[in-house]
Amino acid sequence: MTAILIFFTLHWFLSLFFHSFFLHRYASHQMYTTGKTREKLFYFSTWFIQGSSYLVPSAYGVMHRMHHTYSDTEKDPHSPHFFKDVWQMMWHTAKIFKAFQTGEQKIDQQFTKEYLPKWDKLDRLGNKLFTRIVFGMAYTAFYIYFAPNAWWFLLLPIHFLMGPVQGAVVNWCGHKYGYSNFSNGDHSKNTSPWGVLLMGELFQNNHHYAKNDANFAKKWFEFDMTYIIMRGLNSLRIIRLKPVLVKV
Ligand SMILES: [Zn+2]
Ligand SMILES: [Zn+2]
Repeated sequence: MTAILIFFTLHWFLSLFFHSFFLHRYASHQMYTTGKTREKLFYFSTWFIQGSSYLVPSAYGVMHRMHHTYSDTEKDPHSPHFFKDVWQMMWHTAKIFKAFQTGEQKIDQQFTKEYLPKWDKLDRLGNKLFTRIVFGMAYTAFYIYFAPNAWWFLLLPIHFLMGPVQGAVVNWCGHKYGYSNFSNGDHSKNTSPWGVLLMGELFQNNHHYAKNDANFAKKWFEFDMTYIIMRGLNSLRIIRLKPVLVKV
């Protein structure tokens, strides 16, 4: 049982970290700069850790920029206020994601103006159904070997869909439940203390207020774990946090 709990916790938090640190704060918002080799290392880690549910950074970045521009309007790719339940929202998000990748849906140039990290070979490999299935089989094999009984297998779908599941929790809860520090003209909310489990990503209200600020925590009782790690990486000169323009 301990092995399963460790595996689940590691997969949850590592996926979340690369989701937050690389896909969100780098690919979408360019909150820091880093060297080419380090960018590749973060890119590779995002793929390897997300595995079966790998989200292509450039498609993620475009969709996320749209989310900020159209927050909680009909053009928002994943506002909880236009769907009956979280599953429909996830399905709709997945369809847009696919349409971007196949070129079926044209991308408005305003969302590609800023830098988007790209690694075509890795994206093609990570996006292959075969690759995703291999990862899924590896998670299942781990459970077959270590799970004390079949009930534990109920956790497997979370491993299979880790990236989209975490995205859906943030997009659904972060625009529906909690309190607001700022009036942003949308439904973005903050959640504390449970937000700790989402490593700062549930401070959507704070983040929509200042989308280029790497620190999503604004009050003394708010805690943004990803930002704390980023501060550490910044002081080690692995990344360089960009200075933030403060709204007056
Ligand atoms: Zn949001
Ligand atoms: Zn954002």
